[in-house]
Amino acid sequence: MARTAEKAPGAWKDGKSWVYSITYDEGFAGLLEHVVPLHRRLGFPGHVAVVAGQVGVPRNVPGSSFDGWLTLGRDDLLSLHREGWGVSSHSLTHPEVITEAAARREIVDSRRRLEETLGFPVPVFCVNYDMGNYPISLKYAPEAGYAAILTIYDFVNRGKADLMKLGRVPLVSEFPPPFFSRFDPYRRIQQAAEAGGWIIDYCHCPLPGGPVHPAKDCSLEELEQRFEAVLRLGGRDVWLAEVNEVVAFLGG
Ligand SMILES: [Zn+2]
Repeated sequence: MARTAEKAPGAWKDGKSWVYSITYDEGFAGLLEHVVPLHRRLGFPGHVAVVAGQVGVPRNVPGSSFDGWLTLGRDDLLSLHREGWGVSSHSLTHPEVITEAAARREIVDSRRRLEETLGFPVPVFCVNYDMGNYPISLKYAPEAGYAAILTIYDFVNRGKADLMKLGRVPLVSEFPPPFFSRFDPYRRIQQAAEAGGWIIDYCHCPLPGGPVHPAKDCSLEELEQRFEAVLRLGGRDVWLAEVNEVVAFLGG
């Protein structure tokens, strides 16, 4: 079979042939009850993309379907970091549009704010709201010193070339109209394994019994199916990795 990978199989850390990571946008405190224990039980590191100006307080993003949800606090983030989780900046206030006038605050200052609060590096920016904010994120990333940018493009990453536009695979119970679908725990795993690629999953805060927003999350049970599929199909070949660790491995 033809291989199209930039990295040959076995080229990842410890000879692993492909990589699996997962990120949770907004970093809600609700992760602590069910999702973090699932991570511990199955041995997966996690990563949260946090709105830098709202650490430890209820989300204040009028119009957001998650408005009012409590965000993880400093102590929570520090303890997650101690057990291998990473944090990225998800802007300062999560505006629908990052204007040129606000770009330095939202993209550059948000990193500084998080690093001052947390005391560890925050080398990755996670584009907020939608991909309309990607061009300005890319423009200001060098000033902030970001090594990578997380997007919501759905693709398998192949290596260093993808760092400033990392694809992520949405874990959702059902895509919104007109692209109805059902949750697929195997999504892109075969592709990543054959190509020697890197899957970065993303969702928000999976809950038992079903997501609050079927187009923005899967359920906790579906998340467990996903992890089990990664373990079953990945076996010894998959590197379960925290995003910042992979970015550093790629030289970002
Ligand atoms: Zn967001």
